[in-house]
Amino acid sequence: MNSAHPERKLASRLASVTPSVTLVISQLARRLAAEGRDIINMSSGELDFDTPQHIQDGAVVAMQAGQTRYTDVGGTAELKAAIIKKFKRDNQLDYSAKQIIASTGAKQIIFNAFLATLDAGDEVILNAPYWVSYPDMIRLTGAEPVAVVPAADEGFKLTPASLAAALTPNTRWLLLNSPGNPSGALYSAEELQALAAVLADFPRVLVMSDDIYEHIVYEGQFVSFGTAVPAMADRTLTINGVSKTYAMTGWRLGFAGGPEWLISALAMLQSQSTSCPNAIAQAAAIAALEGPQNLLAEWCDRLRTRRDSALAILRESPDLWVETPPSAFYLFVGCEKLLGKTTPAGKTLGSDLDVAEYFLEQAGVAVVPGTAFGMAPYFRLAYSIADEDVDRACELMVKACGELV
Ligand code: PLP
Repeated sequence: MNSAHPERKLASRLASVTPSVTLVISQLARRLAAEGRDIINMSSGELDFDTPQHIQDGAVVAMQAGQTRYTDVGGTAELKAAIIKKFKRDNQLDYSAKQIIASTGAKQIIFNAFLATLDAGDEVILNAPYWVSYPDMIRLTGAEPVAVVPAADEGFKLTPASLAAALTPNTRWLLLNSPGNPSGALYSAEELQALAAVLADFPRVLVMSDDIYEHIVYEGQFVSFGTAVPAMADRTLTINGVSKTYAMTGWRLGFAGGPEWLISALAMLQSQSTSCPNAIAQAAAIAALEGPQNLLAEWCDRLRTRRDSALAILRESPDLWVETPPSAFYLFVGCEKLLGKTTPAGKTLGSDLDVAEYFLEQAGVAVVPGTAFGMAPYFRLAYSIADEDVDRACELMVKACGELV
């Protein structure tokens, strides 16, 4: 306690939370850039494409038509109808309006779902490498994240055996994120069904299917957990949003379908915290979900080209190890061989945090250390930046690897 400033005492629950490392690194990279350094930022999880014109127009028209007031807590009837259609069209999932909620990003839904269902002592199973925000959200509720670190040959995925070993009577959620951030791992229907079979003896376990990267798939096919395992519909929360699919991260609009009891609990929390998602973003999301979808395949092609180019360049370094991820827009690169090496400035690299710092200082490239995702020594780079920057950044990192002794 700061006795000179008793007013600065924060709630004890904050002790369990750490600021998102991805944001910390983006900020550091921005600061170096502001100081005049040429920094290529591969640390942030968003597309560089502009939000398509027809989606922007949807927002402008809505504003001009006076759609600038609070809406229903869980989103307008029009938006819910568009989300119901999307789930049917893309995932063959049937939801009624009472089973749908729209929120301020998928992030708010994930957080509220944990807040609504977790008590101290509850556990949430997730597989490393995981999205940085999950564990802190879980801890904020007083519950415990139980991270399963896959073996080298498991493709960054949970298996029925590793799931069975992690389940306890305290398990409340199984959190699945396919396509996965940061690994790009994609579960097949059969793999999801095999995981579901393990849950049969655990009736209190809910399944959160975070499908936010659904449309960024290069090889294989995306299948939502609810589609693969319809029998578990009353225990499945299917989460998605417009951020990654339509280049709309800043609009802050996510949505979910799930059992009515859970959706109404999420709406209750939302009613007392944020009232409703942004009305203008809701109109834009309708334009996104109901407008032309062919641009998604075009974007995927461009991203695949970037991925393949980045992989080819990074593999020139004997010190880096990277699998070809079938989905999402990240590479999760193993950097074990860099540890113990010394930088031109005389510093010995002891961890993937040191590696990320070295790349920032030596190569001017911002990446996120694997530690932030619960798996080390790795680093994650996002190739969702301009084509020429992807290539230049990878070349600079390979060169920086070669400058270590
Ligand atoms: N889930 C995963 C796996 C993510 O990577 C992100 C964003 O980086 C989100 C959810 C949050 O998305 P939104 O912008 O809809 O809040």
